[in-house]
Amino acid sequence: MNEENVILILDASAIINYLAKFGNIDKEAYITTSAINEIRSETSSLRIDQLVLTGKLHIAHPDEVYIKEVIRTARRIGNIHDLSNADIETLALALKFVKEGKKAILITDDYSMMNVAYALNIRFKSLLVKPIREYREYIYICQTCHFSTREPPSDLKCPHCGDMLVRRIRRRIRIKASQEGL
Ligand SMILES: [Zn+2]
Repeated sequence: MNEENVILILDASAIINYLAKFGNIDKEAYITTSAINEIRSETSSLRIDQLVLTGKLHIAHPDEVYIKEVIRTARRIGNIHDLSNADIETLALALKFVKEGKKAILITDDYSMMNVAYALNIRFKSLLVKPIREYREYIYICQTCHFSTREPPSDLKCPHCGDMLVRRIRRRIRIKASQEGL
């Protein structure tokens, strides 16, 4: 990546894929506490520990105010069902840097995170997949009783009749090609 003075915020899979692709991190890079814990529980993370020790990768926890804003936005656009707590925290950390006027870029291969990032005006780039070309807002509907919600229960069952909720696109915006991958 050629841009100067950018801050990269990486989710758990992005840090692993970033190192596999580029071999090193040459930008100011951040990862959340929950993302680093996810990595440590799943893989040998000597390389990542080394990056932290040498100050190339910073571990940070986003403030509650940003976490709340991410949750509020994800609920509004029908994406809250798709995000883990670690995803929300990563988005919140990226949002913090954006609000501080920094050139922050979220690195993720998760389509839902890209979608929520777009809604929050966070720039994003992907590594192994193409970035989303369309921003979408979703609604979940029950085809039996016509109940609808943007915040479905985790089992996706209609709270009124118990039938399965189906996801529909409520609104879509084409994303300009400037949001390119790395
Ligand atoms: Zn129903």
